[in-house]
Amino acid sequence: MITEIVKIDFSKPLDAQVQKCAETIVRGGLVAFPTETVYGLGGNALDADAAKKIYAAKGRPSDNPLIIHIEKPSDAEEYCLTNDSYYKIANAFMPGPITVILPKKEIIPFSVTGGLSTVAVRCPEHPVARALIRAAGVPIAAPSANTSGRPSPTSASHVIEDLSSKIDAIIDGGDSEIGLESTIVMPRDGGVTVLRPGGITVEMLSEIFDDVTLDEGIVKKNESASAPLAPGMKYRHYAPRATVFLIKDVGNADFDGRVKRFLKGKLDREPLTGVICFDEYRDEIIGKNVFYFGKKADDDEHAKRLFDILRRFDKTDAPEIYATASDLRGVGLAIYNRMLKASGFNILEI
Ligand code: AMP
Ligand code: MG
Repeated sequence: MITEIVKIDFSKPLDAQVQKCAETIVRGGLVAFPTETVYGLGGNALDADAAKKIYAAKGRPSDNPLIIHIEKPSDAEEYCLTNDSYYKIANAFMPGPITVILPKKEIIPFSVTGGLSTVAVRCPEHPVARALIRAAGVPIAAPSANTSGRPSPTSASHVIEDLSSKIDAIIDGGDSEIGLESTIVMPRDGGVTVLRPGGITVEMLSEIFDDVTLDEGIVKKNESASAPLAPGMKYRHYAPRATVFLIKDVGNADFDGRVKRFLKGKLDREPLTGVICFDEYRDEIIGKNVFYFGKKADDDEHAKRLFDILRRFDKTDAPEIYATASDLRGVGLAIYNRMLKASGFNILEI
């Protein structure tokens, strides 16, 4: 199949530019599109066969459910059983990088939800995503537009790398603003459980709910035999080919000094060692496979750059990768969670 690339011109009206892609989706085809979190691989969420095509294109296990994207919060009424918590979240954070799990209505096929009786709903903020959903007139089922297991795509070129010739079209709307997938929450009596951390932080959720609980799998390896609440999180994710070690700050004095000495030692012995570190290390930590992902305190920048850097490592000859972890507050928790998955929970305490 020839994949058409549709480059968006933001100085012109969007509706006409996405019209053909919207028709492709309605017909049962697949279109990758930009959102503020990462690029999504979209298909008609009311079409069981479109969902199957999404799983096939990504090589994704079919028990890993998709998120359905709607234009405005009240559109959810048609597809799931909403509740007060949903509207509380919607009023505070939608459109935006948050996904809510709700009981599904019959109209949503089980192939979209990986066989679950619940469905994940999100209302994206990105103007191109919104124009596409509006023009299609159907909810758009979309997981991240990457090959299963690889880092989520934060630019059209990442999608081209993974899915060219496997899908009908890719809409190029530039780099993703946030760079990490949406926060996923499940409402429950008196509060919410966070299943996946993201751009809407625990701190932000705590402003509207008294009780915000974190799913255990966010910072710990899920070793129990029971089904995890967010099925996708059980799979190996974001992993470059080389082994990744995550360097965690456990409160020892002079953390940066210790880390720099450790990294220098590694680079002296093996100059091809892969490193992801803060901009502040730039003068001392130098090497062919060293990437700087923003100032230490700049979580938003780390979020934006992380997946692109992880992908770049696959084009290097780094035998091992050492990454400095972010602070766990705010968006830092989401970054730490993705780095844990990329490292397969390989933590170094220095
Ligand atoms: P992706 O955005 O590509 O990571 O895929 C969507 C993710 O949303 C899945 O991997 C799940 O972790 C989560 N998800 C989707 N639907 C549900 C659901 N009904 N219940 C719990 N988690 C879900
Ligand atoms: Mg994904």
